[in-house]
Amino acid sequence: MAAIDQQASATTQRAHHAQSAQRMDNSAAHRVVIVGGGVGGLGLATRLSESLGRAGLAQIVLVDRWPTHFWKPLLHEAASGQLDPATHQLQYAVQAQRHGFEFEQGELTALDRAERHITLSALHDADGREILPARQIAFDTLVLAMGSVTQYFGVPGAAEHALPLESVAHAEAFRRKLLDACLRANHARRAQTAHAATPVSINIIGAGATGVELAAALRDTVRLLNRYSPFSLDPVRDFRIRLIESSGRVLPALSETISARAQRMLASLGVEVLSATRVTEVRADAVLTDGGAPLASDIAIWTAGISGPPVLRTLDGIAVNRNAQIQVNRTLQCTNDPNIFGLGDCAACPADDAGAFLAPRAQVAHQQALFLARALKCRIAGEALPGFVYRDAGTLVGFGREGTIGSLSNSLLTQPVFVDGWLATAVYKLIYRRHVMTLTGFARMALDTASHWLRRRVHPVIRLH
Ligand SMILES: Cc1cc2nc3c(=O)[nH]c(=O)nc-3n(C[C@H](O)[C@H](O)[C@H](O)COP(=O)(O)OP(=O)(O)OC[C@H]3O[C@@H](n4cnc5c(N)ncnc54)[C@H](O)[C@@H]3O)c2cc1C
Repeated sequence: MAAIDQQASATTQRAHHAQSAQRMDNSAAHRVVIVGGGVGGLGLATRLSESLGRAGLAQIVLVDRWPTHFWKPLLHEAASGQLDPATHQLQYAVQAQRHGFEFEQGELTALDRAERHITLSALHDADGREILPARQIAFDTLVLAMGSVTQYFGVPGAAEHALPLESVAHAEAFRRKLLDACLRANHARRAQTAHAATPVSINIIGAGATGVELAAALRDTVRLLNRYSPFSLDPVRDFRIRLIESSGRVLPALSETISARAQRMLASLGVEVLSATRVTEVRADAVLTDGGAPLASDIAIWTAGISGPPVLRTLDGIAVNRNAQIQVNRTLQCTNDPNIFGLGDCAACPADDAGAFLAPRAQVAHQQALFLARALKCRIAGEALPGFVYRDAGTLVGFGREGTIGSLSNSLLTQPVFVDGWLATAVYKLIYRRHVMTLTGFARMALDTASHWLRRRVHPVIRLH
């Protein structure tokens, strides 16, 4: 049955590919190809299709290596088992059908700037059989919105033994490792083996927002897991959750007030913080630092830095910086090719005239998508392009049941205001709902929210399998 399903899926994909290639050949409209269906790319494809696409002024093609979109800021909740990623994924093919753009699944591997086409790798099924061949897609305007990858800074053993947290697959790998470690430890306690007194050690390397949120979520998870007999461990005595940070404080990119408050919340959650500590090596069972004895490690996860996808260095000489991000100017055009735009984490966009660049954040990618949806109209109409201006709305960091803290800002406030309590938690939750609403509209977002609410009442609060 599985083989028949795969064959049917491959045939459907081939037929879809032939149809879409034919549609592309037949169209004389300006062709905008967007690579990457993340926060920025999918938002842009949806908006452009509704404006330029519906008016017949442009043909929009979205490319992604996966068939579904997942909002990355929820990854720590998926990794800690508090959220089922399957219920939060949006299928590109469905979004394309509803909004009127083309979707091509495949990984960008090459670019020909003179001929204006990109190459996508072949797509294979789980048995290694080819579903779609390598393909070339022509463009008039190319938008690269490919996000980022984990930056291990060349630390020995880190890429081999510290999990990254970039995708649903990584979150699932972490969750499985956590459950396996709990089962093992629980068995050791029951069997009274030599390891019975050893806590499960989880080392999170990097105390930026992702690392801090993951540490806090894990504290909730281990408390909830205690209810289920195969995983039943003492949430305090049997777990050691460490956050290791090379700079002097947690959340180094945020204000000292927020950082100090986060430090206190982590302490009350029982998370051990090792600041001003540099990881020098990661091994299968230990993390080595410049701060003393090796730290025991059942699971290590790396949340300490990002870079642009390495393929960007190989794309026909487009300008990239040392961090493999596309160098763009204020119009988001690549500095050495006006037909190519960079958006979100994969682009180094100037923040000011003093040489600073915008941080890799969902907020930046979202605003740049809105900006490009307007700017590309100007480009197609032959008008001068406006410049992108980023408006920082603040930052919120979630600590699970302990609450949320952060700062909010807008044009009426002279400086960001510190927020916590119910207001911070409500705004934090609304950010994801706003993202869903941008993509699907108010009615679908409301139904989706209701279905998640119902799910939480019917299913266990932690995913055990
Ligand atoms: C765990 C975690 C928590 C975060 N929390 C926050 C937060 O609270 N607030 C905040 O502002 N930001 C947060 N961020 C950062 C935020 O998620 C990113 O800044 C944002 O997703 C960037 O959007 P993007 O569109 O540039 O890229 P992404 O959303 O990463 O999307 C990139 C897309 O490109 C596709 N792609 C990549 N390479 C290729 C290729 N070669 N071919 C085809 N497709 C490709 C990928 O499959 C993906 O769909 C968090 C990130 C992580 C990992």
